Amino acid sequence: AVNLSEPEEVVRKYSEELKMPPADEDCNICMEKLTSSSGYNDVCESKAIKPEAVGTLTQCKHTFHLLCMLAMYSNGNKDGSLQCPSCKTIYGEKTGTQPKGKMEVSKYPESLPGHEGYGTILIVYNINRGIQGPEHPNPGSPYTARGFPRYCYLPDNEMGRKVLELLKVAWNRRLIFTIGTSSTTGESNTVVWNEIHHKTEMNSNHSGHGYPDPNYLDNVLAELAAQGVTEDCLRQ
Ligand code: NAD
Ligand code: ZN
Ligand code: ZN
Repeated sequence: AVNLSEPEEVVRKYSEELKMPPADEDCNICMEKLTSSSGYNDVCESKAIKPEAVGTLTQCKHTFHLLCMLAMYSNGNKDGSLQCPSCKTIYGEKTGTQPKGKMEVSKYPESLPGHEGYGTILIVYNINRGIQGPEHPNPGSPYTARGFPRYCYLPDNEMGRKVLELLKVAWNRRLIFTIGTSSTTGESNTVVWNEIHHKTEMNSNHSGHGYPDPNYLDNVLAELAAQGVTEDCLRQ
């Protein structure tokens, strides 16, 4: 989604300015008192937001300097969404920086261990190496893509099919992979999984990312929700 809002507009949209900042409370972004100026005063300039302005996020009611929220937003991928740093509530639609690629789905009659009686959904992700964009850690530098295509498995039951639909939403929001440092190999500037776990083994569990795992579907639903991808996304 292309976002045309100015950073100030995004902060204003999801917060309400307070006339009186609460005494004896710190801003969880800059760690300064809410009654003093934003600690980002020196590095973040804004004509529209004063350094002493304080605002409360509309849903979760956590309070920060408006300039600190602006600095936090400007430091991210500026997709028009804001995430509360205290409780992780997402305002708007969070997107990621997954590089371009393909997600393909097919089905097999074989069962996964622990899901006997159901077939299997196979997801194949394919991403090639390329050059990093402005949203990536080192714009203009190359990135590698190891171990692609990556094969992932879900049980073809009601919950598995729901997870599949949510994974498609996450893919379209560029949330499944990111560019960073692989914790497995230590390689930097490479395509890595991004906080939504996948099962990449079907009939074995050498990596710990295989079946059986009775908690997997619940866990991945929680990880999707933490990225703002919930059943509500399927009703729209
Ligand atoms: P990473 O090591 O930075 O880890 C990121 C997250 O992915 C962590 O939460 C981790 O628990 C999880 N993860 C690690 N290994 C996984 C695996 N085999 N299957 C599913 N999840 C895994 O992430 P990364 O660098 O993207 O992946 C780890 C390594 O696994 C890479 O070297 C990659 O090439 C390899 N891999 C290969 C295949 C394949 O089908 N050939 C599939 C998945 C991963
Ligand atoms: Zn602050
Ligand atoms: Zn909050």
